[in-house]
Amino acid sequence: MNFARVWPSFTGFLIITAASTLLESAPVVQGQELPSSQPSIWATKPDVTAFEKMENNRLAAAQKAVDQIVAVKGGWTIENTLAPFDEATRQLNATIEFSSFMQQVHPDATFRDRATAMTTKASAAGTALSLNRAVYQALSSLDLSKSDPATRYYVHRQLLEFRLAGVDKDDATRAHLRELNDKLTDEQSAFDRNISDDQRSITVDSAKDLEGLPQDYIASHKPGADGKIRITTDYPDAFPVITFAKNESVRKQLWIAFGNRAYPKNRDVLLEMMRTRQEIATILGYSSWADYNAADKMISNGQNIANFIRQVNEAARPLAQREFAMLLAEKNKTSPGAKEIMDFENYYLRELVQRSGYNFDSTSVRPYFAYDRVKQGILDTAQKLFGLTFTQEVGAPAWAPDVETWDVSEYGKMIGRFYLDMHPRPNKFSHAQMSPLLEGIRGKQLPEGALVCNFAAPTASDPGLMDYGDVVTFFHEFGHLMHQILSGRQQWAGVSGISMEADFGEAPSQMLEEWMRSPQVLATFARHYKTGEAIPAELVARMNRASAFGRASWVSSQDSFSAISYEIYSRKPQDVDLDAVTDGATRQYTLLTPLPGTHMFASFGHLGGYSSAYYTYLWDKVIAEDFVTQFDPANLLAPAPAARYRHIVLEPGGSQSANDLVKNFLGRAQNTAAFQKWMGEEFEGQQSGN
Ligand SMILES: [Zn+2]
Repeated sequence: MNFARVWPSFTGFLIITAASTLLESAPVVQGQELPSSQPSIWATKPDVTAFEKMENNRLAAAQKAVDQIVAVKGGWTIENTLAPFDEATRQLNATIEFSSFMQQVHPDATFRDRATAMTTKASAAGTALSLNRAVYQALSSLDLSKSDPATRYYVHRQLLEFRLAGVDKDDATRAHLRELNDKLTDEQSAFDRNISDDQRSITVDSAKDLEGLPQDYIASHKPGADGKIRITTDYPDAFPVITFAKNESVRKQLWIAFGNRAYPKNRDVLLEMMRTRQEIATILGYSSWADYNAADKMISNGQNIANFIRQVNEAARPLAQREFAMLLAEKNKTSPGAKEIMDFENYYLRELVQRSGYNFDSTSVRPYFAYDRVKQGILDTAQKLFGLTFTQEVGAPAWAPDVETWDVSEYGKMIGRFYLDMHPRPNKFSHAQMSPLLEGIRGKQLPEGALVCNFAAPTASDPGLMDYGDVVTFFHEFGHLMHQILSGRQQWAGVSGISMEADFGEAPSQMLEEWMRSPQVLATFARHYKTGEAIPAELVARMNRASAFGRASWVSSQDSFSAISYEIYSRKPQDVDLDAVTDGATRQYTLLTPLPGTHMFASFGHLGGYSSAYYTYLWDKVIAEDFVTQFDPANLLAPAPAARYRHIVLEPGGSQSANDLVKNFLGRAQNTAAFQKWMGEEFEGQQSGN
């Protein structure tokens, strides 16, 4: 997903965890009026000149609001200070969200380039605001004693974010911080660019070396003029080979090529990035970047990250051992006496066990997932779950002809709008994400967001059959969209939408993935595209059990990545040996043996953006599984728990601490029991082997 941020050079979007006790009883805002309608974001069909004019007008409005605050000399109030500050935030958010979206999806290259330049310009305005001492002083002088909890929470977290930016430092230090942040931005871009620029490849002598791969893969990899077949390290090219190729030496060579992308170039870039971050953290009074970066998140400090990584390891280990025994037994069929499994063999062996041990072939479910049926099924599921009505605005203009515009309404009133940009186009963003476009504000602005995916479009001769994993991705991203829309009745833009702690954002969407595993839910829309037969519950059960195999090993790998991300940013850069950290984490957290001669840290892109916060994925997975316990597994569409979830977790947006949202919904502290059960689901009903 895409968390648009007003101040992208700094740690992210606000939060203060210490304030949470004060705000525990913050009421959920309900039944507040939104505007009854508003023109869609693309209503005026802007060309690039009109787009720039719109964006510049927003930036000018933001600046005007900032000037208004600075002009107040004493006597700062919610009305003369927080209101214009929030207006500046609303305008800056909308500018950056729109420009970064256009740079990803607009079909015209000039438009995309000018949108990129606009994002840089708007980000600079955000950085300038984050270091504006007059604004900081005005906000910190506000009397909040009569304010509602959401307003108090907003100001507290905003002040923290100002301090994390260094606003209270002297002029020279602030100037230095700005330089360091610019330097960090450049280092991050270089790190990313080195990864995307370094496509490597191997060649194999003939199609025989690709035995085990699907026929359409082999057909699309024809020998070149030299008679050899070239396989690149791009994901769609490399992972089928690593997963299916019977030829071990081909898998191994490709793994080595894959694990050396951006090496050695990125070793130096990463070390430089670590030094820059350490210097920023030190100036701001933190002993490490990991501590600094955690200060505005749920997890709150580096030690808690270390504890979480250890806790996950303890939960996963016994189950990973059972999975390991099955993988090794599979390996022993062709390598009798082997005692270890190399990291590159994991994918291949897991696939074999899923087929031999669980009698499931993933291609067998595709005929039940034709695109149009899946789309309707996902819209229906979300409407039922959250009590909403979606209506397509037929013929509404958009940035590309196949983009759909939909209104969201409740009790006959419009409460938001979303766009579906679902199929590939040349030069379009190539993964799947939800892009927020406007934050909802009571009485002022309806929330809007867009889903950007790349599923094959159905044609007259082809229903666009989807892989099951893509169906799950679709609903996952739709979950982000629902969060954006349903949290859109706040008083303030700064706490609306997905503005909460960055390490909570994936929990609601990961939770909804479970709905796509329910036979009850799938039966409502998954029908065979030829016969119309509903997907058999027995097939869903087999699919669920087979796909559960390998979860504990997957968690162990994710835990080792989290440890790498934490360790390199929690120590002094001069004390870090990157190869030793990555090799050590694989050995400590997984049961796999790392293949010598690879340097995965060089292509671990999240070390740039997420830096020390890669734990986020597992952190949110633990919360997501705990959330599922509040629903009836036999009837996931029951309205009562869904309504409760919507009110307690989604509607508050960023107006309360996410730690409180979690506790309020669970009615207790979170724990790892449900996560542990999820990890071991393939063994359910069996005796423990240990
Ligand atoms: Zn997501």
